[in-house]
Amino acid sequence: FTYDAPVLADRSVRVVFGVGSLYRIGGEAAQLGCRALLIAGPHEDAAADVVAAELGPDLAGRLRDVAQHVPTDLAHEATYRATQLGAEVLLAVGGGSATGLAKVIALRTGLPILAVPTTYAGSEMTPIWGLTDAQGKTTGRDARVIPRTVLYDPTLTVSLPPQLTAASGMNALAHALEALYAPDATPLLATVAEEALRALAEALPVVVAKPDDLDARAHLLFGGWLAGWALGSATMGLHHKLAHVLGGTYRLPHADLHSALLPQVAAFNATAAPEAFTRAARAMHVGSGRCVGQALFDLATTVGAPTSLAKLGLEPDAVESVAASVAAATVGNPRPVTEADLVHLLRAAFVGNRP
Ligand code: NAD
Repeated sequence: FTYDAPVLADRSVRVVFGVGSLYRIGGEAAQLGCRALLIAGPHEDAAADVVAAELGPDLAGRLRDVAQHVPTDLAHEATYRATQLGAEVLLAVGGGSATGLAKVIALRTGLPILAVPTTYAGSEMTPIWGLTDAQGKTTGRDARVIPRTVLYDPTLTVSLPPQLTAASGMNALAHALEALYAPDATPLLATVAEEALRALAEALPVVVAKPDDLDARAHLLFGGWLAGWALGSATMGLHHKLAHVLGGTYRLPHADLHSALLPQVAAFNATAAPEAFTRAARAMHVGSGRCVGQALFDLATTVGAPTSLAKLGLEPDAVESVAASVAAATVGNPRPVTEADLVHLLRAAFVGNRP
């Protein structure tokens, strides 16, 4: 085989992984700039207070207003604050929403990001930014939004409630699975994605059963890191297209949405990408690639992650309209998909049928 291995030094991300790594934020932030703008929602107050104490006079300001899918108004206001405060570095502490807001500011100002993820969404490892307005969600790829440094501290994920943990873990599984059958998958990417699936599938039930188990939290966060890297390195398929349209148009909670869709998309794609699903089955300790969709559904049920779009508040009428919109778009997916397929798949996800 021939492929371009990702060893470009100018795209590397400095990763600090381990319990207590949050306390290294002062020194790490100083490598990137002196005046730091801290972006952390209200649920991340405890971690944000530690950051504020570590930064001392280098903390230029603090933004607590973050929201999923980065509404344009919020992005304008945050960019204005960053400029007004003379920020030199953006510190994003939180899930994909905090990272997402920092990314849009970075896109507009060129400021470097230091990310401290507290969920398993994986945005900190990708060049993907997103913005949402009344017309829907726009995404793009830009090297400027890739964080320069990421601190993974498993301690920070202990406060993530079991339901959010479960859904966020399913979100990470979706990145890894779609990377395995991506049109631009490479042997290196497939190896990382398989390892991500293994870590996530093993650690998720343990973490949900024992939220304080730091070893399991570290294992899950490691899986989230690898899955995020896979997301950033591959072209995603049908699953991410559906999540993009449903999330951007109906504003459903991001990770929950991924959880309800993933088993159905996996079952739909299994026969079209046998090698990828053999790897997925091996990682998830499942007998055959054809059973991965069912195994994902069972995992979601075990950990209490959503399996039904109806229970997330989607109206039944949305099924046909999302199917039409996705059928009209270009989606790089191993199995060609018709509008009728999409209606069938979305109805199953709507009800929450085991595939
Ligand atoms: P989120 O960041 O909105 O977090 C979900 C909820 O959990 C929030 O209320 C948050 O305050 C709370 N929370 C987070 N960490 C916590 C903790 N440790 N303890 C207690 N509460 C905590 O959700 P998310 O699923 O992490 O991210 C979703 C957003 O990220 C979406 O906008 C999605 O589009 C984006 N995203 C982008 C990429 C990318 O590559 N650009 C990748 C994944 C997700």
